[in-house]
Amino acid sequence: MRAHSISQATLADGRELYYFDDAAVDAADGGPGGTDAAAQRLGSRRPGFADRRAPGARSAAGELRFDALTGEWVAIAAHRQSRTHLPPADECPLCPSTPENPSEIPAPDYDVVVFENRFPSLGPDVGQLPAQPAWGTSVPAYGRCEVVSFTQDHTGSFSSLGEVRARTVVEAWAARTAALSALPGIRQVFPFENRGAQIGVTLHHPHGQIYAYPYVPPRAAVLAAAARKYYDDAGGRDTLTGSLLRAERTDGSRMVLEGRHFSAYVPFAARWPLEVHLVPHRQVADLAGLDGGEKDELARLYLDLLRRLDALYPTPTPYIAAWQQAPLDKLLRPAGYLHLQLTSPRRAADKLKYLAGSEAAMGAFINDTTPEAVAERLRDAADTTAAGTTGTEGSTR
Ligand SMILES: [Zn+2]
Repeated sequence: MRAHSISQATLADGRELYYFDDAAVDAADGGPGGTDAAAQRLGSRRPGFADRRAPGARSAAGELRFDALTGEWVAIAAHRQSRTHLPPADECPLCPSTPENPSEIPAPDYDVVVFENRFPSLGPDVGQLPAQPAWGTSVPAYGRCEVVSFTQDHTGSFSSLGEVRARTVVEAWAARTAALSALPGIRQVFPFENRGAQIGVTLHHPHGQIYAYPYVPPRAAVLAAAARKYYDDAGGRDTLTGSLLRAERTDGSRMVLEGRHFSAYVPFAARWPLEVHLVPHRQVADLAGLDGGEKDELARLYLDLLRRLDALYPTPTPYIAAWQQAPLDKLLRPAGYLHLQLTSPRRAADKLKYLAGSEAAMGAFINDTTPEAVAERLRDAADTTAAGTTGTEGSTR
């Protein structure tokens, strides 16, 4: 019997923060985590730690401008120029608070924490975008940007978390997806992780983010339109992502791993030197729609996948882990199908792919690797990670 305890606190400038505690596992289950009662006590004391920083005004909101040339929205967030950039460890805003470092997290310890970004691209206000935007249309940057800290430990990465902790992060993603989806005007909720200073990470502490957009972002809109067309052509009886999953499992040459509820493969037309899609076997709109058994397996397989990625080279591989969820749009949502797109620009131990002319200006990707060869390397990486998995399992508290 597992239960994740969730509790809310408020930071000095009014931002919301949520503590997600590792599941308490009954002694009968033989797992780590102590008793439910102990976890409840621990969970309930954390919101009691007040933010001791001086109450301050929130960062100024940015704006959304309509790009008439493309029909896309652009967030103008000049206030983000002053955001914290690779601070030293003793000034880390994601470490638990100490007397010397009153951080973003008031409690002296935590498992997983989610809070509103101090320098958001979107928010804090939410609302509807105008239905007929044109050149010159500008609105407050409605929406929400949240930070998800995976652990109180400053070093390491998602892949070095234990399985219990990874499961808590999955729970946090699901709970925040549900909560953000319910905010007025939100059209897309996007949990993601940028890992590696090479791709622009500004804090080393292991963390991800969740953006809640007041519109369906361009790439999500392209995926959603293709999904909707396939769904309509199939009379509402099949999904595009489901059909691709079946095709990849039948073909087999690009499969990386197969579980009971999820499978991962390098897509047939991968755009990045490293690209893997992790897909649930059942059509589910978003992380909030997964059941307990699916979340358990997701935590395990996602760790497996990340460890394979890190086993490819002597140094950690930078990546973007992007959760594609169904848009909150009556027309698009029925065809939507949750999946992870894990991509990396790394094409060799010492080389990164840069998005240059063809990709950046034309959106036309050229991949210097073959998806089949990448899949084979990731399958073989399991041997290397087996030792690592044993070594790191449970090491994070
Ligand atoms: Zn830290």
